[in-house]
Amino acid sequence: MSTKKQNLFDLDRKGMEAFFVEMGEKPFRARQLLKWIHQQRVTDFDEMTNLSKALRAWLKEHCEVLVPEVVFEQTSKDGTRKWLLQLGCNNRVEAVFIPEQNRGTLCVSSQVGCALECSFCSTAQQGFNRNLSVAEIIGQLWVATRELGEDVRISNVVMMGMGEPLLNFNNVVAAMQLMLDDFAYGLSKRRVTISTSGVVPALDRLKEEIDVALALSLHAPNDELRDELVPINQKYPIKMLLESCKNYISGGRERNSITIEYVMIDKVNDTPELALELARLLKDVPSKINLIPFNPYPGSPYRCSSRNAMERFKSILQEKGFVTTRRKTRGDDIDAACGQLVGRVKDKTKRQLKKELKQEAV
Ligand code: SAH
Repeated sequence: MSTKKQNLFDLDRKGMEAFFVEMGEKPFRARQLLKWIHQQRVTDFDEMTNLSKALRAWLKEHCEVLVPEVVFEQTSKDGTRKWLLQLGCNNRVEAVFIPEQNRGTLCVSSQVGCALECSFCSTAQQGFNRNLSVAEIIGQLWVATRELGEDVRISNVVMMGMGEPLLNFNNVVAAMQLMLDDFAYGLSKRRVTISTSGVVPALDRLKEEIDVALALSLHAPNDELRDELVPINQKYPIKMLLESCKNYISGGRERNSITIEYVMIDKVNDTPELALELARLLKDVPSKINLIPFNPYPGSPYRCSSRNAMERFKSILQEKGFVTTRRKTRGDDIDAACGQLVGRVKDKTKRQLKKELKQEAV
């Protein structure tokens, strides 16, 4: 057997039960450990007072609880908070807390960088290094809960930080299981949201694994435009994607509608014609639409739509019967808004280098 200690932060309940059984321990230890680690936020086995001395000694020998380290923290004028977490090998990711009147939302990252190349997203410009482990994903919630203290509750989690969650399927699902687990965070299924750019085969599998809310980063009503903005569309075009989304919410799910995210980019995807096309496209898709003002970042090729264009787009969709909201930009003074999360990515795709070479060539 390997001498490497098991990081208990890496296991959801099922995984932890299997681990204890394999080690000749009782499966109910999992529930005790989950409570200590995620609810009491105790990581030192010696402090786990309802466990026998012998068991504590055994845990110390075979297990560890490794919490990601916060290297930098910022608070925005509007109360939004951002934490930069150190992940070893010089990689860093960001998690953002957005307080609102009746809820508090944590925006969680799933990968170091992102392997997709959406043309309007600053994480994409950073390239990609690796998937986050379960410990690193759930660790963001653990750390934020600690930093926010007793008085502030995280009621919602959105997988809308850095990365494409469905391309880190197993770890993201296990981390979300912990978010829902009554022995860990006990969040409601309606308040944990996975956001995807549309990895269809993974989305089809998701339904078998977990029941959480679904947000789709659509951003365009036709393939021609979406191919350009969200290049994974070339592989999984809109029709196929919407079928997969409809299938996800069918059959007695907690949520029977999806959130359509649509980033508003000046003169690119914000015309009244495109609003009408979007309404036609979504006619049979139970959905509510969330318009996101484009957030600029250094070197970004686009501008945010005008207030007028956004209002017009919104009212067309509303007239067609869609619940349509405009996302308030939060935390932009600390670069914590949508698409502004960059962390620090040791890029393995050489994307940045290729871009520089291309720029030099022209
Ligand atoms: N990869 C996943 C989750 C991360 S992005 C996804 O694509 O859904 C979270 C949301 O922010 C997505 O809808 C994304 O398209 C949007 N976003 C990315 N860059 C943005 C920018 N510059 N301004 C506004 N929204 C942006």
